[in-house]
Amino acid sequence: MCGIIGYIGKGLAQESLIDGLRRLEYRGYDSAGVAFHEGNEFCMSRETGRVQNLADSVQKNSSQSSLGIAHTRWATHGAVTVPNTHPHVSHDGKFVMVHNGVIENFGALKHFLSGKGIEFNSETDSEVLCNLIAYNYSELLNEKDRLIDAVRIALAQCRGAYGIAVLCLDYSETMIGARRGSPLVVGLGDDANFIASDASAFVGRAKEAVFLNDGELAILKGTDFRITTLEGQEAKAVAHPVDQISEEVEIGDFDSFMEKEIYEQPTALKNTLRGRFGDDGTTAKLGGLEGHEEELRNLDRIIFVACGTARHACMVGEYLIERLARVPVEVEHASEFRYRNSPKAEKSLVIAVSQSGETLDTLEAVREAKTKGLLTLGITNVVGSSLARETDGGVYQRVGPEIGVASTKAFSSQVCLCAMLGLALGRMRDLSPMDGQGIVEALNDLPDLVSRVLQQGEQIRELALKYSKAEHLLFMGRQSLYPVALEGALKLKEISYAHAEGYPAAELKHGPIALINPECPSIFIVEGSELSAKTIANMQEVKARQGPVLAIAPEGVEIPKEAADDVFRLPVAHEVVRPILANLPLQLFAYHFARLRGLDVDKPRNLAKSVTVE
Ligand code: GLU
Repeated sequence: MCGIIGYIGKGLAQESLIDGLRRLEYRGYDSAGVAFHEGNEFCMSRETGRVQNLADSVQKNSSQSSLGIAHTRWATHGAVTVPNTHPHVSHDGKFVMVHNGVIENFGALKHFLSGKGIEFNSETDSEVLCNLIAYNYSELLNEKDRLIDAVRIALAQCRGAYGIAVLCLDYSETMIGARRGSPLVVGLGDDANFIASDASAFVGRAKEAVFLNDGELAILKGTDFRITTLEGQEAKAVAHPVDQISEEVEIGDFDSFMEKEIYEQPTALKNTLRGRFGDDGTTAKLGGLEGHEEELRNLDRIIFVACGTARHACMVGEYLIERLARVPVEVEHASEFRYRNSPKAEKSLVIAVSQSGETLDTLEAVREAKTKGLLTLGITNVVGSSLARETDGGVYQRVGPEIGVASTKAFSSQVCLCAMLGLALGRMRDLSPMDGQGIVEALNDLPDLVSRVLQQGEQIRELALKYSKAEHLLFMGRQSLYPVALEGALKLKEISYAHAEGYPAAELKHGPIALINPECPSIFIVEGSELSAKTIANMQEVKARQGPVLAIAPEGVEIPKEAADDVFRLPVAHEVVRPILANLPLQLFAYHFARLRGLDVDKPRNLAKSVTVE
């Protein structure tokens, strides 16, 4: 993952670099570092922990340089230590480099370079690439384009994924960036240009952003820049205005971004829904699907590819779309899809879902689908992200930046878009106008219902307090509420580090029931359909074994006293919106559970918001 920012310009680099790192911290926060080109040497600062630690240390020793690169790390190779922190310097001190990604053949390259007498100071794959560039540079003594060729040759020798920014001591006015697999974007300002992992890093400083395509290299020289392919052909630079790409985010009166993002879901969902229904009020109108109507009407199969929370949203989508549109749906872990040789079916649609639009596993799955000639659509929150650019069409979530590492509002909007997709596909096939109208009304009512559930936040805080000593919890649901159980368990794990598992409620008796004891609470999500009685019977099986039970159930569904210790009520709602509503108390439960343990919910250990390594 990692965040990269580089500055080249007329002003001082330091402030832009540190500020950029703060904005990129969502990509990783194990350690952070910065290197400045200071004429005849590189001045470096590197610290473990948050960007603030680096900011404090740089503050003491302000740099006057106007050329520098910086990095916030999410460790893949080597522990979280200062020597493993980027930037890395080559053995001869000529090059500094920051890297996002994984060099898969770093072992063989390290062996080769060690044979040339080169010594290493870190355990990272990245330092190997930095030294490989330096080695090639030394071999190309009299070449005209020595610097660029050294970078190109080194990259051609690497396997894996990278986004890099490189400086060379011999070039006080040049910065090089390149990407394969990991994102990289050039920012163009009045007095300075930038290279960064994403455009949010230079918002307010650059006016335009040029997204590099995979396999491209950017050469920033003074105030000029050009883009080539890694092989050296000139490439086209398409500039996008930066103010349309990223927004600033304030935390307001909330104590964390996660809390803020949970409570802004009514507005977020209004934005997801706005202007997306047909004039007759019976279908959804998703602009990003235009031009594909014929293919969509004749689909034989939909394959969702996603990871983590987004995959849970897709699993809800599987139930909804099969029900509304009668198209067979499969949900794949994006990381598995890529390597699984599933038989090609002509009329399959691949839908990739990723909040950031930069999740590498998901992007690779899309690339694999495209090589098989399948139609691909994306659901993402980030305008201009790699997913948005690489798919054939798609839909934006429009929920505003999500900063909390644990996804909340993005999940709700992804489920909402799956329901809208199911509605649109259903109406193209055999869903009646009456049924379509009912779903449109249910979706339009959703933001108000979400507000009603969130108003009961205090009750959830009390329940979280009651169960906050538990180290093992089970989450149970059926049908479209089964993925909600998975998501509830994932949310709790991510931010509280308690162990939690989600299961289909009926699966309990096939194994997990062995875990039940008075210290292991079970959270059951009750449907409000003919299945409720079965779920209530499963709750009683847990109670019979002294397991504490918390039920999340719609108003009007009677929960016998002996079946649950506590009941949290949801408003009665149409089945397509029930999963979104049922997930809200689970988001709040995880949030309070973790806060009561004194944990930082926005930056849970070992995680990062956008996972750009495989
Ligand atoms: N592989 C590099 C490291 O461990 C970069 C990691 C990343 O991009 O997440 O330092």
